[in-house]
Parts: sequence; structure tokens; C-alpha cells
Amino acid sequence: MILFKHSKDLENYLDKQRQTLTSIGFVPTMGALHSGHLSLINKCKSLSQLTVCSIFVNPTQFNNQDDFEKYPKTMDEDVLLLEENGCDVLFMPDEIEIYPNAASREKHYDLGYLETILEGKFRPGHFQGVCLVVEKLLKAVNPDRLFIGQKDFQQCMVIRRLIELMHEKIEVVICPILREENGLAMSSRNRRLSASQKESAAELHRQLVWIRDQLTPYHFQNLKKEAMGRLKEAGFKVEYLELAKSGSLDLINEFENDGNLIILVAAFMGDVRLIDNLLISE
Ligand code: AMP
Repeated sequence: MILFKHSKDLENYLDKQRQTLTSIGFVPTMGALHSGHLSLINKCKSLSQLTVCSIFVNPTQFNNQDDFEKYPKTMDEDVLLLEENGCDVLFMPDEIEIYPNAASREKHYDLGYLETILEGKFRPGHFQGVCLVVEKLLKAVNPDRLFIGQKDFQQCMVIRRLIELMHEKIEVVICPILREENGLAMSSRNRRLSASQKESAAELHRQLVWIRDQLTPYHFQNLKKEAMGRLKEAGFKVEYLELAKSGSLDLINEFENDGNLIILVAAFMGDVRLIDNLLISE
């Protein structure tokens, strides 16, 4: 695996590779890697001739300074894991490389409705920060395919919108959520949970499954009330628990039989904010 710190060096290297390779795949991450990230690397390897991963804890997407400062950093472990899993290229820039001056943080992206709901509503500025960094990374890597996780479902939609705004033709491959044995969605932030919090946190997925299984005969708002009660008992402070159309993320109040739906949740366990979701197919 080759490690790059500077965009220019990475661009030069990839330009040379492109003379002989036709498919470059890219997996952007914020590090503290777990099996969920590695499943993206493996999917990328199966569809690409060259797999590029990036690790950058992006300050502009944190709406909470404490969350940024406490974000787990395990660089040495990450490099080993990527090497073991056959990643070809790792891009690990410093903050100054991505944001050399104040102007480099100032662009605004028209994300419309997507920015007004769920993560957009509860984390003001978050998706603007995501777009800032992802645009810079996509320009540096110029991949044929981008591999991202359903775990961040709304972010997947934002990134599709960004690619549209950039007038790029990059195929977006959305990979399934990897979970711990107890159902808890894998997340770098899980490292900040105690063993007993990790057990309690599994309730998040359990309640999504419970709602999905009950949905047809019941009104969503009643199910939501019951599920919120159980999440509170498990120690969660819930920010949102919503049912939406998975194509548009239009929030709805009741089960509708005319399309694919998704249930999305964000909740705090202690001071750790967790998100999860579950797709409901027709
Ligand atoms: P992050 O490092 O949290 O920014 O995540 C990097 C990428 O890994 C994003 O596309 C995430 O959606 C994806 N990802 C995070 N957690 C999981 C998981 N449990 N299963 C699959 N992909 C994940």
C-alpha cells in the first residue's frame, strides 16, 4: 500500500495509473476503522482495479466541538488493517492540506430539502462540511466508483446531490450496514461506549426491527411512542425517530403500500450520538 499526504502527489500517481487501469474505486473514511469500513474496502476491491481509501477527520462537518475532539483516532491500527485487507492507496492529508485558508471552508452547496430534515435539522452545517471535504477528495482521487455506507443513509443522498452539482459521472455504490452480534450498527463512535452501554445501545436496532414488523396494521405514531419509551428505558435520549420514503426522504406518518420506506433514528447514549436505519421493502 502506498501512503500519500499531499493531494498533488496522489493526483500525479493516479494519473499515471489511469494510463493502464480503467477502474479506480474510492472509499472515504474518518478512520478508527472497523469491519463496516473494511466491507466497503472489500466491495471496492471486487469492482475496481485500484482501491483508494482516505482517512481524514473532517473538522467542518462537526457541529459539536466536543464530538470532534473526542472522535477516536487509531491511525497506526488503521494503516495495518488497510494493508492486511489489500487496500492499494491510502490518502491521509493534514488539515492544512484540505483547508489551506479560510476561503477553502466557505463554499455553499444547494442541498435543498435534504438539509432541512433529520441529520440536516439536528446537525446544522453538518452536510455543508461533508460536501466541502468530499468535493476536495473526489477532485483529488477522480474515481470511477465511490463506495459509501447505508449506515449514513441521508449522507448517501447528499453525496449523490453533490456529484450532480459537480457535473461528474461517478457511480455511487451503497453498501449494507455491518452490525455487532447484538445488532448494534458498527461505528467508530462505539469505541466511546462502555461494555454495558454497548449492550443497552443494541436496543436501537431492536426497536427499528420491532417497528418494521408491526408497521402494516398500526399507525406509525403509536409505534413510535412505544419504541421511544423503550429507548428511554434503555438509557437513550432520542433526537428523532422517523418513517420516510426511501427515494426522497419525505417524512410520512403512516405506512404506505406504494413504495420503499425507511425508518431512521438518532439518539444519544451518554454523550455519544448514534444513528441507525432500516429499509422496508414493498
Ligand atoms: P466514517 O468513517 O464514519 O465517516 O464512515 C466511512 C464510511 O463507512 C461511510 O460511507 C459510512 O457510511 C461507512 N460505514 C460506517 N459504518 C458502517 C457500518 N456499520 N457498515 C457499513 N458501512 C459503514
